[in-house]
Amino acid sequence: MSELAYPYEAPASQALFDRAAAVTPGGVNSPVRAFRAVGGTPRFMVSGSGPYLTDADGREYVDLVCSWGPMILGHAHPEVIAAVQEAVARGTSFGTPAEGEVALAEAMVERVAPLEEVRLVSSGTEATMSAIRLARGFTQRTKVIKFAGCYHGHVDSLLAAAGSGVATFALPDTPGVTGAQASDTIVLPYNDLEAVHAAFAAHPGEIACVITEASPGNMGVVPPLPGFNQGLKDACAANGALFVSDEVMTGFRTSRAGWYGVEGVVPDLMTFGKVMGGGFPAAAFGGRADVMAHLAPAGPVYQAGTLSGNPVATAAGLAQLRLLDDAAYETVNAVSARIQSLVTEALAKEGVAHTVQTASNMFSVFFTDRPVRNYEDAKAQESFRFTAFFHSLLSNGVYLPPSSFESWFVSTAHDERAVQRIADALPAAARAAAEATA
Ligand code: PLP
Repeated sequence: MSELAYPYEAPASQALFDRAAAVTPGGVNSPVRAFRAVGGTPRFMVSGSGPYLTDADGREYVDLVCSWGPMILGHAHPEVIAAVQEAVARGTSFGTPAEGEVALAEAMVERVAPLEEVRLVSSGTEATMSAIRLARGFTQRTKVIKFAGCYHGHVDSLLAAAGSGVATFALPDTPGVTGAQASDTIVLPYNDLEAVHAAFAAHPGEIACVITEASPGNMGVVPPLPGFNQGLKDACAANGALFVSDEVMTGFRTSRAGWYGVEGVVPDLMTFGKVMGGGFPAAAFGGRADVMAHLAPAGPVYQAGTLSGNPVATAAGLAQLRLLDDAAYETVNAVSARIQSLVTEALAKEGVAHTVQTASNMFSVFFTDRPVRNYEDAKAQESFRFTAFFHSLLSNGVYLPPSSFESWFVSTAHDERAVQRIADALPAAARAAAEATA
């Protein structure tokens, strides 16, 4: 411990965690925040600025989580904050249509060509839940294909073999999801088109849609193999099903037009969240106008929300999208590549078997030397090495996602000083990973 810049204890965070545990299950409002996969005291953050977070004990961390993706401009970006302050001063919720939600929808439609129409909601979970309902209503079919390791939020029918917190906690089927809800979900191995063709052959006329993460980040970063997404699209088209691309994580992060902008495969429906909300609860689903026309009040498929299109959230999202020009993506991609090579260098120097996988500026480190193409591969890594790596970095002021099944996220604010902090912390972390035992 002598080489650690910080004492390991976090007394103020621990006191808050104890208070939280008395009033909130597990002390957190979203499971992966609880550090269960890595152990130790979750850090309670009090402020964020640029690439840094400051915890209740007054310690500063370089943030490689970025609120799980949204904070692509860093924390408290002055122009986003100004837009929020201006919006707040005009009132926080009207329960009527307002111009801000139109402007955000227009900005999204302008950036993402397959998005002809969009409906705003408040979370990624709501977006995927609503997209699935719409796909079922449109096709008059019940079954949904999803892929093991892909997480689409905590939608009942999609909590089968999901990634993210579900991967971390190894809950294959969560209690509370009924057999009926799960039985309409067909879970297939990721990157396996033959399995998709076989499922369509086994269930003719029954499959409403295939939903996939555009490029998965919830089992760690496992990009689609060349042709996989196009193969899904073609299989859906050939079988009268809809292709639903979940861009909650990749949307407006992996490029100006999200993963669609990287790969160009045209989905029937898409879902968004995270970056488009600028750190506020805003999300969306959209796509083909003829499909979206089935949504209430235009059509019969019901969907609604008291705070949908909230004026403060839409102002934050719009300000963030407007700042995300080509130069911003170049900056994020470059800093991501820099950090990836620093990690590889440090781990290679200590002889730690690892694979860094990327999807544009999203990346993660798997503690295995084999390529990770699906959830089974991801689970085969030496996660115990991640735990040691994580705690060493945390102790030296670098905040990683507290699980080996998550993407790392960077921002335009990750400057030279922040990168140097990571570079300085990596050698000890790589040594800790090398010395870790199962
Ligand atoms: N879809 C994907 C791909 C996600 O990564 C997430 C969240 O991480 C969701 C859906 C759910 O979004 P939310 O947490 O906003 O409900």
